[in-house]
Amino acid sequence: MNNQLITQLASNCFFVKGAKKNLIIDLQNNEWYHVDFDVTKEKNYSNGQISKEDLDYMLKRQILIQIPKKIKKHFIPTPTSFDVPSIIEAAIIDRNESSTYSLSSTLAWLDNLIVKFCQVRFFSDAQLSEIIEILECVKKSNVESLDFIVPYSKEISDFLEENIGSFPKLHSVIFHGSPFNLNELTVYKKRRLYMMLQLKNSNTCGIVHPGFFSKTKHHVLKSMNFNSCLYKKIGIDVDGSIKNCPSMKEKIGHINNAKELNYNDLKTEYWDIKKDNVEICKDCEFRYICNDCRVQVNHKNARPNTCKYNPYQNKWEGQKGYKTPISKTDL
Ligand code: SF4
Repeated sequence: MNNQLITQLASNCFFVKGAKKNLIIDLQNNEWYHVDFDVTKEKNYSNGQISKEDLDYMLKRQILIQIPKKIKKHFIPTPTSFDVPSIIEAAIIDRNESSTYSLSSTLAWLDNLIVKFCQVRFFSDAQLSEIIEILECVKKSNVESLDFIVPYSKEISDFLEENIGSFPKLHSVIFHGSPFNLNELTVYKKRRLYMMLQLKNSNTCGIVHPGFFSKTKHHVLKSMNFNSCLYKKIGIDVDGSIKNCPSMKEKIGHINNAKELNYNDLKTEYWDIKKDNVEICKDCEFRYICNDCRVQVNHKNARPNTCKYNPYQNKWEGQKGYKTPISKTDL
């Protein structure tokens, strides 16, 4: 009897209960699976509540594991707490033709906040000298990952292709308004994406689509505890105003006076709005892998207007029978 096997969810997997469907997020295989069963209710996966085919598949993928009952206590669940040592973890810097604030001073200030992830978005033509200035500043900083969103420029594209080895922190470059759509993932093992769509301002953000769902442990744990987009984030808009997100109206300060700001000035109420506090999203099985947006919303706790999913039907807009979900405050 002591060798009796029990079947349980692997510690690297999270079960998420949704209104109609449930989800298993597999952090190890970077996957998610829709499931009909409920691990919060079913104690024994072998008793016929899961089909043999599903059980075999999940055992093979190590989503479910079989262990002797007597050692069950050693398989502790993954802690779901989350925090990062940075004062500010991520930053977005926006530029257009009228931006006059200093890039190097901005990056130096962000480095003092121990920013790890930095995205720089140009909505009008960027000079190669600006791109190089940013790359050189980032090289010496705490930033671990740099992303550019920049209008298509053959000069910049050629420069990056020739010099990519000198800038290992460059994570991705999206060229918008390019004459072609082309996703070059293999050229120099960095992501370089060309898209024909022209990005004119910061409002072209906040897209909700399965292609943007993130199954990393970092994203999932952050979403369980804080806002997945805005927690410990800073946005510098095209005028140099400091905000939680560059698209927001609320200003925290200006980059010219940034040194006067302390941690409490930078922290906003949005940091703590997690998906479990958002109407409709709180019932959605995708809530810990989805992205959030607190700008394109009708009110503070509304789901993003850009979402086209109905978790009560398990249908995306365009699928037969789809209806727009209604939140209680809309009734
Ligand atoms: S309902 Fe919310 S959590 Fe679900 S897909 Fe839409 S935005 Fe994401």
